[in-house]
Amino acid sequence: QQDPRIAGISSAIRVIPNFPKPGIMFQDITTMLLDTKAFKDTIDLFVERYRDKNISVVAGVEARGKPNKLPGEVISEEYSLEYGTDKMEMHVGAVEAGERALVIDDLIATGGTLCAAVKLLERVGVNVVECACVIELLGLKGRERLGDRPLFVLVNAT
Ligand code: AMP
Repeated sequence: QQDPRIAGISSAIRVIPNFPKPGIMFQDITTMLLDTKAFKDTIDLFVERYRDKNISVVAGVEARGKPNKLPGEVISEEYSLEYGTDKMEMHVGAVEAGERALVIDDLIATGGTLCAAVKLLERVGVNVVECACVIELLGLKGRERLGDRPLFVLVNAT
């Protein structure tokens, strides 16, 4: 049985067809962030799930994060996009070996983005406890790409 707060979160997400290109149904969470009830419910659901899991760091994938934006020493992970590749970077020293991380993003599609984030953390000895997203696009096998690592999502979309 689904938590009664999920329906409100789901309906606060704006779906924009054909953005950024034909055929893509863009799931826009910015409308949910402006809906104080839906945003609070989203935060509460994550807090309720993770408050007793001994998480020492919450790792967020920065929106439109690009290589060469961090001034210190970085490690980087390349990942595949629909066309070509992109790169994700993390400061050396941002996390310590042995930390327990929760990795959060707005949405999982192919899983490439989350996978790169997980690999960056695991390369420096961090234990990724779980990945969490507001939305999972079903049918793109993103969950499979994460292998054994658990994925928690609030809303399913197609
Ligand atoms: P992926 O690496 O394929 O799992 O793509 C996930 C990343 O791309 C997330 O950071 C999302 O913000 C973004 N993204 C991919 N597809 C969509 C979509 N249909 N609507 C909104 N964001 C998307």
